[in-house]
Amino acid sequence: MEQCTLCPRRCRVNRSEKLGFCGMGVQPKLARAALHFWEEPCISGTKGSGALFFSGCTLRCAYCQNHSLSHEGHGKEISVQRLAEIFRSLYEQGAHNLNFVTATPFVPQVLEALEIYRPPIPIVWNCSGYESMETLKMLEGVVDIYLPDMKHVSSRLSALCAKAPDYFDVASAALIEMCRQTGTPRYDENGMLQKGTLIRHLLLPGCTKDSMQVLNFIAEQLPGGTPVSLMRQYTPQPFCLIKGLDRPVTDQEYRRVLDHFQQLQLTGYTQEKASSDTAYTPLFDFTGV
Ligand code: SF4
Repeated sequence: MEQCTLCPRRCRVNRSEKLGFCGMGVQPKLARAALHFWEEPCISGTKGSGALFFSGCTLRCAYCQNHSLSHEGHGKEISVQRLAEIFRSLYEQGAHNLNFVTATPFVPQVLEALEIYRPPIPIVWNCSGYESMETLKMLEGVVDIYLPDMKHVSSRLSALCAKAPDYFDVASAALIEMCRQTGTPRYDENGMLQKGTLIRHLLLPGCTKDSMQVLNFIAEQLPGGTPVSLMRQYTPQPFCLIKGLDRPVTDQEYRRVLDHFQQLQLTGYTQEKASSDTAYTPLFDFTGV
């Protein structure tokens, strides 16, 4: 992997010799591969989503709830052959889908492993939305469901939180491409998403205006009926030193954004009750790796 340009950071490093922004070498690195029940109902269903939690991240938000993976590189390096075996194991455990969580630094290895064994269940690409067009083209025809975040519109906020002032420009183009690739959302008879793009937006404290701009983008630029998951479980992290991000989202802030969501007639998932992030964060103890 010479001159890595897999994501918009375009570090152009040979990752077998030097680490780029994501901090990942060449071997796939994971911290957990297990059935996961905390995604949206159309992804987790009753049997769980076969979630593969990869180490490293191309965005690395200051407030990340999976800090040990994204910032500290916690995980275990495995071979491509072993990765394929994990796919089989998750399928045999009854997973509704294979759910690749922040796997962008390992796209070539994931594609190679899927060549060895591809289970007959949907492939989910669960990412920050910060994806390059070239990498999305590599995933075309392989990924059935994109599960991207749309985090911020404000360039200032993206620069502050993730050193990525170009986040919105990149992610908006990426989401349009994802919707183009997957087409109109398609569900099975049990309401499980089989194909489509489901967009997640996490409210941040003090950022309701930006959240509403995110929703405007979705309503105006993406195909009608694109499902959106409006999340309010933001939990302040001790390592995040950004002023204003040291408190949860208030009920009033959430209600304001939810009203806008409803005015725009968006569909998808909302969270009426605040819940702690710990309810959603699994143990990164190398289960299934
Ligand atoms: S995947 Fe990692 S090394 Fe490659 S361009 Fe992105 S951040 Fe840099």
